[in-house]
Amino acid sequence: MLDHTHLAARRSHVASANGHDDFPIQNLPFGLFSTDPEEPERMGIAIGDQILDLEGALEAGLLTGLAAEAIEDAQFIDGWADVLCRGREARVAIRHQVFDLLAEGSRLAGAVAEHLHASRDCTLHVPMRIGDYTDFYAGIVHAKTVGALMRPDNPLLPNYKHVPIGYHGRASSVVASGHPVRRPNGQRKPATETEPSFGPCRNLDYELELGIWIGEGNDLGEPIPIGEAGRHIGGFCLLNDWSARDIQGWEYQPLGPFLAKSFCSTISPWIVTPEAMAPFRHAQPPRPEGDPRPMDYLWDDADQAHGALDLELEVWLMTPGLRAKGLAPFRLSRGSSLGLYWTPAQLLAHHASGGCNLRTGDLLGTGTISVEGGMGSLLEITRGGKEPLALPSGETRRFLEDGDEVRLTARARREGFAGIGFGECRGAISPAPSAR
Ligand code: MN
Repeated sequence: MLDHTHLAARRSHVASANGHDDFPIQNLPFGLFSTDPEEPERMGIAIGDQILDLEGALEAGLLTGLAAEAIEDAQFIDGWADVLCRGREARVAIRHQVFDLLAEGSRLAGAVAEHLHASRDCTLHVPMRIGDYTDFYAGIVHAKTVGALMRPDNPLLPNYKHVPIGYHGRASSVVASGHPVRRPNGQRKPATETEPSFGPCRNLDYELELGIWIGEGNDLGEPIPIGEAGRHIGGFCLLNDWSARDIQGWEYQPLGPFLAKSFCSTISPWIVTPEAMAPFRHAQPPRPEGDPRPMDYLWDDADQAHGALDLELEVWLMTPGLRAKGLAPFRLSRGSSLGLYWTPAQLLAHHASGGCNLRTGDLLGTGTISVEGGMGSLLEITRGGKEPLALPSGETRRFLEDGDEVRLTARARREGFAGIGFGECRGAISPAPSAR
């Protein structure tokens, strides 16, 4: 899986890419951008603090063969979905050609420069139309911590270690990083009140998750064997599954989360490909003694050996008080994607195991990722709001206030390789609309 595009020594003629935290030439993630609100969205690839306009590069004759064919079709039909549905071969063709165009010493550097745009002048969009969005619950520390708030003696339900738990989410309200997050109104009934009421969410929270983009889909009624599931993954992103805890607490029984989770979900807009992540795959951490072995349809030796992702995850909070005092964003947590109890391939194989058809552009969320000492939600950090967090500004937080901004980051690092990152997944809370 590793080739010349993974060599740490390779550099780009785009100077900002060399040593870039997120987008060195070894990453080359796929995205959809516009330079002007009036202009149509264009397919691009991030390189340092620039974006390479692939459609411009195609028109200029800089792409050939399968890469040119995939981008040519895609720009008139379904964008990145048209590339991802072709599987690994098309992704690799684009990666290799763009690598050659952007590499130090490229004889086409001058021509390529005409199709670079400064990222700060561009708007990034959800990279393709999301057909369906499913959110799992694969962070076992999160499941235990949240379970313990409700059931101190019995935090994990008996099914947890056997079946990947999930629910069908809402694709229409998935937005790209930077889009405002409006506090939802909804029905709440805290234990201290006798009657339910309708109004602004009082316990607004974030959830630190990874997103998995479906590349090639499967036909209805045709499950995806675990050994093939990895090949159906088209890419990865960060996902903030904003959650209205008070609304959730009142509505979730008996059918699970509904409006508490569907008012907005924020993703990082770059599709980080499985090829870019190849050096950062990791063995799935062994299960603790006594845990059940996954059932056969979820077990694959190769997936166990290198199907997990090794990413350092961080959550940063900026508040009006921190900003007013000129203070830096406050780091709420630092964790690792190795805190997931199931691999991405296991989530995908389970989803399709009953015959459900996954389609190109579907998005799977892993569930909140918490590790000991690095919790992925305020629900866990403040123990359901009972232990408010003190910030350097003198402010305290039980849950998120209007004007707060949450930023998620993911970085992959490994000795001997150029580190890559996912870019930002950022959203600021704006006030709820009138409740009538
Ligand atoms: Mn979630």
